[in-house]
Amino acid sequence: MLYDAVVIGAGPAGITAALYLVRSGVSVALVENAAPGGQILSTAEIENYPGFPKSIKGWELADLFDAHLAGYPVERVRGQVLAMEQTGEKTFRLSLDEGRILEAKAVVACTGAHHRKLGAPGEDTFSGKGVSYCAVCDGNFYRGRDVAVVGGGNSAMEEALYLSRIVNKVYIIHRRDAFRGAMVYQQKVREAENIELVTSSVVDEIRGGSAGVDAVAVRNVKTGESRVISVDGIFIYVGMEPISGYLPEGTNRDAAGFVLTDAEMCTSIPGLFAAGDIRAKRCRQVSSAVGDGATAATAASSYLEQWECLPAPSS
Ligand code: NAP
Repeated sequence: MLYDAVVIGAGPAGITAALYLVRSGVSVALVENAAPGGQILSTAEIENYPGFPKSIKGWELADLFDAHLAGYPVERVRGQVLAMEQTGEKTFRLSLDEGRILEAKAVVACTGAHHRKLGAPGEDTFSGKGVSYCAVCDGNFYRGRDVAVVGGGNSAMEEALYLSRIVNKVYIIHRRDAFRGAMVYQQKVREAENIELVTSSVVDEIRGGSAGVDAVAVRNVKTGESRVISVDGIFIYVGMEPISGYLPEGTNRDAAGFVLTDAEMCTSIPGLFAAGDIRAKRCRQVSSAVGDGATAATAASSYLEQWECLPAPSS
């Protein structure tokens, strides 16, 4: 079936884009690889999304987003888009897992980003056995025990604070002595009695045995001094990588692979729009993802209005 628009990804950007598109009267399919919500499903509390002054749990907000879309005739397609190409007829052909194909006149890519790996020895060996990228998912396994968090951005600070309420002690290991995370988190982290900051330090090795992680070896980059810290878990938050590998070759991206768009969320390929954390941008928030989704859908609607008159792609 040929849809007017296919939205890929059901996080805040994708759900908003689908909502705005369906309300504009076009046919929409929303491809979701996992449960709706995206990254907010692994966020404990969201404190900065307007309308929830007492904060809201990530899964609760995901449920509300999903419920908002439920009353509209959006085709929900469960699956993963593996590749995408533009055909001579100006339509996009999306190849999904299990050999399924979807066709669309316009596509809004909202597949977001995932946590980057640290690249330290032991990270892969102990992945799922002490090494985690999701405190909300795995924090409870370490109740009353000691853990480390690696990174100095908002994710590291937020998740360290979450863990500090469950575990005995949290070490935040950061490669510099200044943190990138917001001041409000820095202050809370410094005030928490069971958080120790291990600054100007890099992870040399994640150590353990058959039962999983038991220590992390760190080195102070200023003094050269090494230290082995006993921990049962290590949570890695060293930035994000875009999920953009399925996009056509001609999609312009930055050096890290994030998709370049203009202010209307148009990519370098006519008819292909991008919204949310997949984009090259500075602000990666639920609120900015929602704004991106609405902007992309509005641009896609106006593209669809002109679709019949558009020239075929020159490839
Ligand atoms: P981020 O802001 O890019 O921070 C990544 C951190 O990891 C930085 O402190 C960086 O150190 C460190 N790092 C990177 N590569 C490393 C390596 N190889 N070894 C050791 N440390 C390394 O990433 P993020 O915290 O995942 O956040 C991603 C985006 O989401 C950001 O825009 C963030 O503001 C946003 N976010 C917002 C909230 C919120 O506002 N509530 C919550 C979570 C995330 P340097 O500082 O030295 O570069």
